[in-house]
Amino acid sequence: MGRIVQLDHALSNKIAAGEVVERPASVVKELTENAIDAGSTMIEIHLEEAGLASIRIIDNGHGIEEDDVLIAFQRHATSKIKNEQDLFRIRTLGFRGEALPSIASVSRLELRTSTGEGPGTRVLFEGGELKEHEGYSSRKGTDITVADLFFNTPARLKYMKSIHTELGNITDCVNRLALSNPNISFKLINNEKKLLHTNGNGDIRQVLAAIYGLGIAKSMVPVNGQSLDFKVSGYVSLPEITRASRNYISTMINGRFIKNYALAKSVMEGYHTLLPIGRYPIAMLSIEMDPLLVDVNVHPSKMEVRLSKEAELFQLVDESIKAAFKTRELIPSNTPVK
Ligand code: ADP
Ligand code: MG
Repeated sequence: MGRIVQLDHALSNKIAAGEVVERPASVVKELTENAIDAGSTMIEIHLEEAGLASIRIIDNGHGIEEDDVLIAFQRHATSKIKNEQDLFRIRTLGFRGEALPSIASVSRLELRTSTGEGPGTRVLFEGGELKEHEGYSSRKGTDITVADLFFNTPARLKYMKSIHTELGNITDCVNRLALSNPNISFKLINNEKKLLHTNGNGDIRQVLAAIYGLGIAKSMVPVNGQSLDFKVSGYVSLPEITRASRNYISTMINGRFIKNYALAKSVMEGYHTLLPIGRYPIAMLSIEMDPLLVDVNVHPSKMEVRLSKEAELFQLVDESIKAAFKTRELIPSNTPVK
């Protein structure tokens, strides 16, 4: 008799959750991205104890059809891609079909959703098991609550940091989603305290002001540039407004916040010698490119990407920032541009 067995769904989802759901901020990221992909114009994120007690996300997107609700909780079930070609032309934030089953397997998850036509649905999962499933009528949109995260994975629960740290991670994440989606109104509330509110009027400066304060937002310099394959736009702080961490450099590719050390470095190179040593600018750069030039399918968190034509992009970023400062005459015009 052989020794190899196929793991059941509950267990394989729990294993996948180890990668997709690292901490409360990962839940907020995945669920908010789902709300964005659903075409929402308004997203509210309510936390209790920095998400360690509960995370509730309410959106006014297209909702999930009654017949699709249970399918959405199956692994690799997605409405966002259908075939291999789609995988190379991803325009949505999600596509792996892993978030809902993973999160449901390590929490108590309640979802209410309605397409605005016909009956809506309410489901409750505990540790990945379906406990309740019923009709539910409400306005169009989705309302999802994740409580007691990691209640059934004690090792992961132990690894959670202080409320302060978890809240910082969530705020960073929501700030970035708000920056890359100025057309969506975001509200982030922890224990009744409002941490972010953007009005969704499409103006990035308004989002910058909501995050960094009006003074800094007003002083940030617009950046625009274009090369054969890339378009760069955004705002960067003046060299005298710096931070002690490079976390304030936000980079977006095709609307997706990504982490790329070399890209952040090319932002700093744009400042030439103007940045004090050990100090980093506040920047928010949005890069548009053909989806064929970027592979987002590198890691389950989808924060790392592989880029084609990296050198061209880095040069464009560096030059666009230099050009933005030059129009302000911050850099004497005889400074050589690399
Ligand atoms: P993915 O986002 O990679 O497709 P998820 O597990 O996050 O996978 O979600 C599964 C599916 O459930 C999505 O493809 C989408 O059709 C649906 N869905 C999830 N959240 C929402 C939401 N807030 N509004 C509408 N549909 C949603
Ligand atoms: Mg998703």
